[in-house]
Amino acid sequence: MTTRDECRRLDAEDPLAFTRERFRLPHGVIYLDGNSLGALPRATPERLATAVEHDWGERLIASWNEAGWIDMPARLGGLIARLVGAGEDEVVVADSTSVNLFKAAAAALQASGRRVILHESGDFPTDSYVMEGLARLAGAELRLVARDGLAEALTDEVGVLVLTHVHYRTGAVHDMAGVNAAARAVGAAVVWDLSHSAGALDVRLNQSGAEYAVGCGYKYLNGGPGAPAFLYVARERQADFANPLSGWMGHAAPFAFQQGYAPAAGVLRGLCGTPPVLSMVALEQGLATFDGVEMPALRAKAMRLTQLFLDLAAERCGGFGLEPACPADAEGRGNQASLRHPHGYEIVQALIADGVVGDFRAPDVLRFGFAPLYVGFADVFDAVERLRIVLTEERWRDTRFSVRLPVT
Ligand SMILES: *Cc1c(COP(=O)(O)O)cnc(C)c1O
Repeated sequence: MTTRDECRRLDAEDPLAFTRERFRLPHGVIYLDGNSLGALPRATPERLATAVEHDWGERLIASWNEAGWIDMPARLGGLIARLVGAGEDEVVVADSTSVNLFKAAAAALQASGRRVILHESGDFPTDSYVMEGLARLAGAELRLVARDGLAEALTDEVGVLVLTHVHYRTGAVHDMAGVNAAARAVGAAVVWDLSHSAGALDVRLNQSGAEYAVGCGYKYLNGGPGAPAFLYVARERQADFANPLSGWMGHAAPFAFQQGYAPAAGVLRGLCGTPPVLSMVALEQGLATFDGVEMPALRAKAMRLTQLFLDLAAERCGGFGLEPACPADAEGRGNQASLRHPHGYEIVQALIADGVVGDFRAPDVLRFGFAPLYVGFADVFDAVERLRIVLTEERWRDTRFSVRLPVT
């Protein structure tokens, strides 16, 4: 059994411990929800204040050029590229994950010349909702298939397969290279949703043969609530990438104000409208928290944190009806631990009241994310200890913990 002292020693020896001070975490809180909303980087408030007061307030419209506002989608895309194993000219920051999914899947479907969209049932809802809308608009057919039937459903009728790399509820990880190869063999494209992978796993888009991907800016990338998302289009797919939202920022010459749309060269054609500059400024600071961090080391730490949590929970919180709801092997699991309990909602609320912030995913999953830039081994020990107390003292039975809030 791992002791708290051993956890403290692991923290002392942790080569990534230096990144924790890049964040401003509330005192006494163990934050295990960086997979839903990344923590606030220390540098963000002042940088945002400068962007507002100086760049906007003093320099006004000149800042589009002087402060490089206009280049932010490409510049931030280049920073994300390093984290997901892509070329700097293959990623742009824009819009939301949902909107980028629409753009990527529509372009991939059109390039395929086919009319079937394949998607995993039970995946994150916005992905399937957006695919429903795309199918309606494109006169395509949406096939929703359970995870274990996907390989069989991947036929030469399929134009595009849309998959979340790390499942939001269970944390199960798809074999990206294997799926890409299987899709290529039948002439289908794959759009990867990296919402729970970017800044978390050692994602290698180029190396695994990925053609299209999207991902979220406000989870592990620490960009702040509602931060803009990203879009990846592999170099060899850029020339035939037909963005269905063909707005002026994706035009070859936005300030020529020409009649008629002509797409920009390269991944910039994935843009639509004006970038949300203040949110981009915050995202840039979020990305700066990865300076000097190599993704294999980050992922290795996260796997140890997650395994430690699961092991300690099994040892110390047995007999209360908690069941694992995530894959048992660390390689096949994202940086999250999922547990199942009929009173999961109440237990999560009681834990939050006790300073351990995780979240709940209907119908019965308690979810704990381990963002390795700011979560340590002693945090994991303390979180499990508080979970044990909530369970042994049945604190979750307090009626105030059963009040359902709009965001769980
Ligand atoms: C968080 C998340 C999103 C978020 O989409 P938004 O457009 O930012 O609301 C999309 N897909 C998955 C799999 C997610 O986990």
